[in-house]
Amino acid sequence: MELILLGPPGAGKGTQSKLLETRYGVAQISTGDMLRAEVKAGTPIGLEAKNIMDAGKLVSDDILIRMIGERIKHPDCAKGFILDGFPRTVPQAEALDKLLHEQAVDLDAVIELKVDEAILVERISGRFSCAKCGAGYHDKFKQPKVQGVCDVCGGTVFTRRPDDKAETVHARLEAYNAQTAPILPYYKAHGRLFTVDGMAEMDQVEAEIEAILRGLGVEAA
Ligand code: ADP
Ligand code: ADP
Ligand code: ZN
Repeated sequence: MELILLGPPGAGKGTQSKLLETRYGVAQISTGDMLRAEVKAGTPIGLEAKNIMDAGKLVSDDILIRMIGERIKHPDCAKGFILDGFPRTVPQAEALDKLLHEQAVDLDAVIELKVDEAILVERISGRFSCAKCGAGYHDKFKQPKVQGVCDVCGGTVFTRRPDDKAETVHARLEAYNAQTAPILPYYKAHGRLFTVDGMAEMDQVEAEIEAILRGLGVEAA
């Protein structure tokens, strides 16, 4: 299965792609997570990306296209992958088509998670994650079952992203509207675009995505 989850920051791409990764046995590829790892490791890419990410802008297409080109060749992508955060510009979408074509792989679907802007701001400002395993949580919508303890790994240290503060969220939403939303007509023209109400409860959103995949003949692992 080759799937793209599209949507503005806070739409639920990370949440849903982690659920789908487990159910379908494919790799979840988050370019945001990959870039944050580069920043943490202080690599040349990380050094270049840090200020751009802190400002809520997009890192260059060149860097991202190279990163994805290498990433989808890893053995864990043998059964497919879910892209979370890529492509984010039309040139990235075109480059992805080329990469998939080279590997003789077809995209099953591009699923857009649609969420109103006011809700996105609330979601992003309450977001935090487990420092050890990356599991995602929310102050209001998804607290760990035991306060202060990660449901997945038992970790007790949690982090918040520096770009999740209110000032930066605005810039990120602008970048989405100006640079990423134009991908939607691109995929619509190719007949691969599906839209899901991302404002529903998390398990409802998951059920809708699975129904779309079932309709396309893609079954869970
Ligand atoms: P969100 O959860 O808000 O959708 P991500 O974790 O996907 O955010 O991305 C965080 C930041 O990393 C973005 O604001 C951007 O600076 C950078 N980034 C991630 N993916 C891409 C991409 N495909 N192209 C350019 N920049 C990207
Ligand atoms: P994205 O990867 O698109 O930026 P996330 O999956 O990180 O978005 O979700 C943003 C925040 O909203 C997280 O704190 C997450 O727990 C929460 N969240 C995700 N989906 C929903 C939902 N359907 N309803 C309520 N909160 C949600
Ligand atoms: Zn954890």
